[in-house]
Amino acid sequence: MTSLVGLPTFVNVLQRNGRRGPMKTDWDCIEFVHTAGWEARDRDDDELADFEELTAWCVRRDNLTDEEAVAFLSQARKQPDRAAETLVGAHRLRVLTYELLRAVARHEVPPAGRVEELNGLLQKLLSGRRLANEARAFHWAWRMDPYRPDTMLAPVVWSLAALVTSEERDRLKLCEADDCGWIFIDASRNRSRRWCDMSDCGNRAKVRRYRRRRGTGAP
Ligand SMILES: [Zn+2]
Repeated sequence: MTSLVGLPTFVNVLQRNGRRGPMKTDWDCIEFVHTAGWEARDRDDDELADFEELTAWCVRRDNLTDEEAVAFLSQARKQPDRAAETLVGAHRLRVLTYELLRAVARHEVPPAGRVEELNGLLQKLLSGRRLANEARAFHWAWRMDPYRPDTMLAPVVWSLAALVTSEERDRLKLCEADDCGWIFIDASRNRSRRWCDMSDCGNRAKVRRYRRRRGTGAP
């Protein structure tokens, strides 16, 4: 964290984000969607309210190193318009991601133009995909360019395209709680999971059912 000295706000944002608890999936696109509330319960809760928060989120996802984040933030100060554009682009990408994943989870046709929009982003950002080589092992990585801050969104765009074309897409579900709207992958063997989180939405549904039963005099 020493490389972040001189950027106290960013450190605060990182720490604040850290308190939001661990990320639950390997899919960048699902975690990206979960940075906003989609239904009444937490509509005002946006984890990506400004460019610093967006950068901090990318660090938490391991899509940016601390050093890259510092470079992105210093460049953002010199080119605030680009940073603002990237934030708007991130919010647009989040809606696109939600609408596409929701359509898949509901076995519906995606809203018109959404697939073209994703293809446009793939065309713009995929040139940053590269093969990295460390100690005789290869892995996929991204070229992150602080002069093009939208490059930090490339892993999310890639993850979205990968998820909708993977076998996992058949396990995508929308939480059944009326006021939730979160998307999750049902990893249960018989695909019977109904809520994003048993200890949250699942519990609230159980309490409601219990109250209803008691109200009607059922056991
Ligand atoms: Zn839920």
